[in-house]
Amino acid sequence: MSLGWTPIAEEAERAARVLHPDKHGMPRPTSRRILTVANQKGGVGKTTSTVNLAAALAMHGIRVLVIDLDPQGNASTALGVEHRTGTPSVYEVMLGEIPLREAAAQSSASPNLLCVPATIDLAGAEIELVSMVAREARLSQALTDEALAELDVDYVLIDCPPSLGLLTVNALVAAAEVLIPIQCEYYALEGLGQLLSNIDLVRSHLNTSLHVSTILLTMYDGRTKLADQVTSEVRQHFGPTALRTVIPRSVKVSEAPGYSQTVLDYDPGSRGAMSYVDAAREIAEYGANLRADPGRTNGR
Ligand code: ADP
Ligand code: MG
Repeated sequence: MSLGWTPIAEEAERAARVLHPDKHGMPRPTSRRILTVANQKGGVGKTTSTVNLAAALAMHGIRVLVIDLDPQGNASTALGVEHRTGTPSVYEVMLGEIPLREAAAQSSASPNLLCVPATIDLAGAEIELVSMVAREARLSQALTDEALAELDVDYVLIDCPPSLGLLTVNALVAAAEVLIPIQCEYYALEGLGQLLSNIDLVRSHLNTSLHVSTILLTMYDGRTKLADQVTSEVRQHFGPTALRTVIPRSVKVSEAPGYSQTVLDYDPGSRGAMSYVDAAREIAEYGANLRADPGRTNGR
């Protein structure tokens, strides 16, 4: 008996993709992609999306580097990477004291996943950077082609702090693409204009290739009418830049970091894990179809 294309068959298919990543590899990008995950609002799912998308790509055969640029170090925690004071971190990398490879640690989530952790020292960087030469380009200068080739990574995801300060500006200067997570809640779109105009400023003065390539709707709660309103408003405004996959609100997603895990390890069959795998696949497929000069390709 064939199940046909029932919702059950669809769920089973999605679960299989999480549970058997070896059989469902994701395509590598045409060239290395650097994405900054930014939104100056706190609690919208930047860190959660960074670590789970990174883990999903890595589990499906893609080499990924996560750069934790939030002094809280939540991405480092979720990826099971040491970030006590004294650990070689993004702070020393930005000061030019150590090369990138010295700070890149292997994540417990996957052998394909590396993380440059953030220690609490980074909290001072926002102020210390002010008086430095090329203060907006410290991270970009560390992420050279050679340094990234040495780590053999196809994707770099930079997790930003919840502000538009110098750390976030450094992340925007270091990347060609911005991924904006938007929470499906009432005030979701508030402040977005400010983020977009900052991105425009960075593009005109510091990084001509910068563009918003990806919008990810997070913490979607299907029981509320509001979630659908936010979703359709975002889709209207951003068109295909917004991924088709929406991340549902799920307790498993929020529990996972407490075990120093991504939700893909913590509960691979959960809706949250499956959604992050689907979103990562959309990102990977887009990357596999990029033309040689990704900064100029604004197809979505
Ligand atoms: P940000 O990095 O933007 O500040 P986080 O990723 O830390 O946001 O998420 C904020 C809080 O919401 C965290 O406690 C996180 O566990 C929780 N959270 C994130 N995504 C989800 C989700 N899809 N379902 C339930 N809780 C979530
Ligand atoms: Mg965060």
